[in-house]
Amino acid sequence: MIRGFTLAAATGAALLASALATSAPDGRRWWGHVQALADDKLEGRNTGSAGYRKAAAYVAGEFERAGLKPAGTDGYFQPVRFHTRRLKEVESSLTLVRNGESEELVLGEDAIIGTRIDPAPSVDAEVVFAGYGLTVPEMQYDDLAGMDLRGKIVLYMSGGPANIPGPLRSHYQSATERGRFLERAGAIGTIGIQNPHHMDLPWQRIALGSRQASMSLADAGLEQQFGLKFTAAVNPEQAGKWFAGSGHSFDDLVALADAGKPLPRFPLHASIRAQVAVERGEAESPNVAAILPGSDPVLKDQYVVLSAHLDHLGIGEPINGDRVYNGAMDNASGVATLLDIAQLLYEAKPKLRRSLLFVAVTGEEKGLLGSRYFAAHPTVKPGSIVADLNVDMFLPLFPLRSVTVYGLNESDLGEEVRAVARARGIRIQDDLEPERNIFIRSDQYSFIRRGIPSLAMKVGYEKGSAEEKIAKAWLKDRYHAPADDTKQPVDLDCAARFDDLLRALAEAVADRPERPKWNANSFFKRFAE
Ligand SMILES: [Zn+2]
Repeated sequence: MIRGFTLAAATGAALLASALATSAPDGRRWWGHVQALADDKLEGRNTGSAGYRKAAAYVAGEFERAGLKPAGTDGYFQPVRFHTRRLKEVESSLTLVRNGESEELVLGEDAIIGTRIDPAPSVDAEVVFAGYGLTVPEMQYDDLAGMDLRGKIVLYMSGGPANIPGPLRSHYQSATERGRFLERAGAIGTIGIQNPHHMDLPWQRIALGSRQASMSLADAGLEQQFGLKFTAAVNPEQAGKWFAGSGHSFDDLVALADAGKPLPRFPLHASIRAQVAVERGEAESPNVAAILPGSDPVLKDQYVVLSAHLDHLGIGEPINGDRVYNGAMDNASGVATLLDIAQLLYEAKPKLRRSLLFVAVTGEEKGLLGSRYFAAHPTVKPGSIVADLNVDMFLPLFPLRSVTVYGLNESDLGEEVRAVARARGIRIQDDLEPERNIFIRSDQYSFIRRGIPSLAMKVGYEKGSAEEKIAKAWLKDRYHAPADDTKQPVDLDCAARFDDLLRALAEAVADRPERPKWNANSFFKRFAE
């Protein structure tokens, strides 16, 4: 189906050994690392699991082989502690009450109860629809304004009006920003509905995924509860019943959202009763960090971070009889890119002025937790990280002609990546789908919130192209599913060229005279001040 090399897991260990031995940047070494990290033996690398620890040991070993210096707090490792929470579904319930009539909802089918925020054991509260539930002070936009939300649950739809720039809209939809404004308004819970036209994951897989344990950082200073006692998500296909009798239909609201318009806000004359039983525990899981020291006597104390998350979803609910969520593209692929770059640099031995800091982070799938911890507790001197270049699920599924860069117009790293790509005949494009919130959905966002100019990159495609169809089909069939394994077709030449681009970008940023800076008009500049 896809042009380029296609390898299958069946080619096995012999290939892996030869792939790791060769240094030609043809994608085979990259693929060898993907195969090692996405092997069934690593059981999907869930944060805190034995499989994740094996993956971390593999990455540390490869860092060492590439001559990198340990940069954790314990050799290459920086242990991170977590609280875990798992919903006890059979002891939990959610009931929608309207005009004295109760309808018990089916958990998993109608809605799922969230445990990322620590829920109260029971909640009985009125529900109000607050449009996008979005507050963007810079745009004088506030869906919560003038509503009495004290003690109430806010029902909202994901997204925001089209006149709010994409990165800003994404930023204010993050749990942290939303939480702040909801708390100020006195709300005690949220129920979110995704726009069904902008879902990367089918509801069925969202529901299966919700059976996994949630995590939060044990470092209390890095977690906030925002006064929330309850969170849930509604299956868009079952959303109609929430709006019954309100004078509004869910379909009309979706049409307004698709047109980029503001949404009406209105009472639902309904309330919910919830019983929420949770099993709580503890876990520990390390980030893995290593340094390629710079050569300039002054600039070597500054660091360009290359980051990729090492964790995935672990063993979960079976799909087609397979329980192992291997996460080959999400994100063994990104970690493999870091390892490939480390080895390329080891062989080429360029003299870079600044140091490179390679970080494979844990807890990304739980809410960017490992990177949040690392950015708050860097293992190098605070303030010495000058940039983060992040790679997560870059999807080398077809030949590389363009690269989509998230954060392209926020800092002068944008000019850097344009120059490196131009020299390679690769087109650079901005985020074409800001409604997917990719800008806040991976680890670069943890660095951005600490004021560090950052980019994330994926293989690009044009709207309406055959490549877009391939990427969308990948999301539907393989994203957060056991089918994201090493039996899928990938384009090795694309991966090799992507790795080369990222290596060249890292070198350019390490060698430039001035440290990267935010563009004067970037919203995110504020985090550096
Ligand atoms: Zn993921």
